Amino acid sequence: MFPPWLRKKSAHHSQIHSLKKLVRERKLHTVCEESRCPNLGECWALKKQTVMILGDRCTRRCHFCSITTAKPLPPDPQEPTKVAQLIKTLGLRYVVVTSVTRDDLPDEGASHWAATVRAIHELNPGIKIELLIPDMEEKRECVRIIMETQPHVMAHNIETVERLTPEIRGRATYRRSLRVMGMFKEIQASMITKSGLMVGHGESFDEVLQTMRDLRAVACDSLTVGQYLQPTKAQRPVIHYVEPKIFEKIQEVGYDLGFKQVAAGPFVRSSYHADQMWTHEAQERDSI
Ligand code: SF4
Repeated sequence: MFPPWLRKKSAHHSQIHSLKKLVRERKLHTVCEESRCPNLGECWALKKQTVMILGDRCTRRCHFCSITTAKPLPPDPQEPTKVAQLIKTLGLRYVVVTSVTRDDLPDEGASHWAATVRAIHELNPGIKIELLIPDMEEKRECVRIIMETQPHVMAHNIETVERLTPEIRGRATYRRSLRVMGMFKEIQASMITKSGLMVGHGESFDEVLQTMRDLRAVACDSLTVGQYLQPTKAQRPVIHYVEPKIFEKIQEVGYDLGFKQVAAGPFVRSSYHADQMWTHEAQERDSI
């Protein structure tokens, strides 16, 4: 039984149905569906989707995630164009793109990422693109290939606090994720960077604060913090529910630590209202 602050209003079914059809017809995937995101009804009613490229099979097995772990298929060379067309059909002015982890590919999927961003720019002039990438096994050249396509925001999720990372994230490491965040700024100092973590895994408030400090130490600009919810019975159970007033505190402390934008709340996810975070960033920059 969820606490009262985690009860959501019902979803907009007709809109969900038509968006699902658009995605299926193109044989594309969204992290909204694959991760069983609780915000799907709300986001899709606004035609906001987070497209997941490089297929729907991940080479890693994180214990909070419901995306299928299996030997992936070769990347679909038509996927970049199909993604760009979907975005055009939806009329999006801001889009978040993510992918499964593809440790099986020599370039971690970087060339496919780059082709996707280029196709989106080409068919959707003026669009803002946020990329939520895996750690690319910390290969600088792969990250550089992606960043050369000029996305507007580069994101990589730290997911949880350092102590819990080995049991929650499988092969990923906390320190590597921090280094990847730092790499974004090393490659392009002006790039807006973003990370996210989920709370509710049994971490302490102090551990969350330390994670926020660690992210600021690599100049992370934007942060999202949300309540972990077990997608299916196969994933880790929720250890604790974080009260809204604690999220407010996290948000307050985040700004004190120097993040330019912090979204913290029970239903916050890394791509939740990402366009609004960007607008805020843009206003901040314009006023400097
Ligand atoms: S929060 Fe992100 S993943 Fe969840 S439905 Fe919205 S866009 Fe999709």
